[in-house]
Amino acid sequence: MKLHTLIPADAIATRVGELGRALAAELAGEPVLMVGVLTGGVVFLADLIRAMPDQPMEIEFLAARSYAGTESTGTVHITQDLASPIAHRHVVLVEDIVDTGLTLTRIREALLARRPRSLRVVTLLDKPSRRRVPFTPDWVGFEIEDRFVVGYGLDLDGAYRNLPYVGELVSDEV
Ligand code: 5GP
Repeated sequence: MKLHTLIPADAIATRVGELGRALAAELAGEPVLMVGVLTGGVVFLADLIRAMPDQPMEIEFLAARSYAGTESTGTVHITQDLASPIAHRHVVLVEDIVDTGLTLTRIREALLARRPRSLRVVTLLDKPSRRRVPFTPDWVGFEIEDRFVVGYGLDLDGAYRNLPYVGELVSDEV
């Protein structure tokens, strides 16, 4: 397998800067809880929060897993939950990629039940052609086609998360 660069590091940095400024402008100085969705969202979260240096914020993480064999029913479980209550707080979920939409639909449902003041979703990547449930993130870094990508937090069997760019694995035979 070969790795082709799909989104170079400098393009990611530019876009993350834009997203950070837009998000901070919309929050207008109100404190926010930035929630990184583990594990893929950590690299994006780390860069995004530094693109919002004047924004009062706390950060937390949660993890969700969809179970094998149950994809058709969309069974997604929160495997690591937030440490603090979110009622009456502005919350932003920070995700690496939205694919079928199942994971964020489930997480959003669970968090909305806790009555946050607002709940927004920002994702670095979006594959809208793969949706199985309607889901529209509030902010998207890059829309991509139906390709399996790695890097900048995204893995293949645990590997490649530390690449500074987003790449696509392609077979050597092509
Ligand atoms: P969804 O529930 O929207 O189908 O899936 C979201 C999760 O699927 C992401 O958080 C990510 O872990 C995984 N995923 C979806 N597409 C890709 C991809 O192209 N590459 C990688 N590495 N993971 C993906």
